Amino acid sequence: KQEQLRKLQFSASKTATGIKIKLLTNIGVLDELEAIKNLSCEGIGLFRTEFLYLGKQSLPSEEEQFTIYKELAERMNPLPVTIRTFDLGGDKLAPLSSEKQEENPYLGNRGIRFSLSYPDIFSTQVRAILRASAFGNVQIMFPMIIDAEDFRKAKRFVQNCQQELSAQGIACKPKIPLGAMIEIPSAALCSEELARECDFLSIGTNDLVQYALAADRNNERVSSYYIQHHPAVLGLIKQTVKSAEKYQTPLSVCGEMASNPQYIPLLIGMGITELSVNPGSFLVAKSIIRKCDAHLFALTEDLNFATSLSAVEHLIEYDLKPYYQ
Ligand code: PEP
Ligand code: MG
Repeated sequence: KQEQLRKLQFSASKTATGIKIKLLTNIGVLDELEAIKNLSCEGIGLFRTEFLYLGKQSLPSEEEQFTIYKELAERMNPLPVTIRTFDLGGDKLAPLSSEKQEENPYLGNRGIRFSLSYPDIFSTQVRAILRASAFGNVQIMFPMIIDAEDFRKAKRFVQNCQQELSAQGIACKPKIPLGAMIEIPSAALCSEELARECDFLSIGTNDLVQYALAADRNNERVSSYYIQHHPAVLGLIKQTVKSAEKYQTPLSVCGEMASNPQYIPLLIGMGITELSVNPGSFLVAKSIIRKCDAHLFALTEDLNFATSLSAVEHLIEYDLKPYYQ
């Protein structure tokens, strides 16, 4: 079976009906570039940057970050590399910040909110990413965006950093794609305006599920409420797909659902055409994509908020089984 999977390295990532599905990888440290070297992936759909910050005695300097982002951009060039700005706060608490312990950290100063409230930390990171953009195909993605206004704040911040760099005569690409994560229900519900304004979008199902169902993603006591295939979640995904289609904005799924074989046919059937998966799931994902046929699209086209949970479960456990088995 491993041998069969390995052969898929050279096969196209396309459904049986001929739809191109872009297959990217998620990584969190440069060491993982070695693991994806032989996968022929089409880029990095999510580069988590929190590792630069966590467990460190001092803040990562602009130079330190630049070195890492530049190496990433150069090694992947010309393929795209989506660098996500710090998603600190929530479970990824930064011991270095002066933040007081919050009563509800997941609903608190996390992600883009944290970054915007610490302009020095944020501009250090954004400058480092912008400088690295001169060495490859770099895109910037913001975590925890709630709506288009939130995105505009982040975009203006990046534009200011760009102006600052060009005033200093430092090289960076003039036009660097900026995108938002769709991982808060409001962002999915207001995804039309986001799709119109963002260069790309990516659905973070890990947080989208926790916020849609009010179930902490790390709390075992409520894990039975953390239902990734819940119709509420599928409805939010469907709505985002429609918005992205309307404005022809590239949309991927980078949360764990994209790496879970059971959910891949569901996502493809719902109109997702880009998946960013963990390196270990890459070839399995490709093998499933290649099985997706007209029958699958017929089975999944009507999924939305109105579907009952039991109907979704029946669909996944019985009808979709041949696709992921
Ligand atoms: C997500 O929320 O689905 C996601 C990809 O981001 P993270 O897991 O880093 O919060
Ligand atoms: Mg997230």
